[in-house]
Amino acid sequence: MELMKSTDRPTRRGPTDWFTGTVWQDPINEAPEPARARSVRVGFEPGARTAWHTHPLGQTLHVLSGVGLVQALGGPVRTIRAGDTVWIPPDEKHWHGAKPDIGMVHLAIHEALDGVHINWMEKVSDADYRATPED
Ligand code: MN
Repeated sequence: MELMKSTDRPTRRGPTDWFTGTVWQDPINEAPEPARARSVRVGFEPGARTAWHTHPLGQTLHVLSGVGLVQALGGPVRTIRAGDTVWIPPDEKHWHGAKPDIGMVHLAIHEALDGVHINWMEKVSDADYRATPED
């Protein structure tokens, strides 16, 4: 077995190519092959969000704190709160992030296919981000 200590894994800033605003990432696991599971705790400051993207084998998001937003292409912006869990099917184009005025922290759990767990696309426009969310 392997014990991965928190003190050996510094918090990373989310790359500006793929995130709008300030995002902090704390890795949880990246299991070696043939295992596929990966997970990361992601903290979005108010107004921060991912770019549009897909996951080849889907993704589960579990909100740990705060209030956030999630949207699949062609669907409404949805509000997500601490305790909520979201399943995003394989290859569904989507984004997730904090509310404009409230931060949000979620677990992101996904599997890698041929070493790839995410395919990044364009950033989310302010107009799309500011659309009135469903509760
Ligand atoms: Mn995602």
